[in-house]
Amino acid sequence: MNHDSIFNRFEKSPGCPENEQLLAFERGTDGADAPAVADHLKICEFCSLLLDLLRSHPEELPVVTPPPPMPEALRCVILRQRPPKPFK
Ligand SMILES: [Zn+2]
Repeated sequence: MNHDSIFNRFEKSPGCPENEQLLAFERGTDGADAPAVADHLKICEFCSLLLDLLRSHPEELPVVTPPPPMPEALRCVILRQRPPKPFK
């Protein structure tokens, strides 16, 4: 009898695309090997579920956003710590 738990096998296989590729595929971003990923999703339950997970938790996607403006208070602290320019 095979005691292999589904959880033991429930992991990325060497042929699985990287998370970044799944994300790119989900977002339709350039650089995604869309046909290959789509084909893979048909045969790989793990990646399908992973993609579902990414879709249902978009807030957990690593979104690339420009850094927020530095808070004024923090900027003041940094400016204060900067050594004064020597006058010549
Ligand atoms: Zn996979």
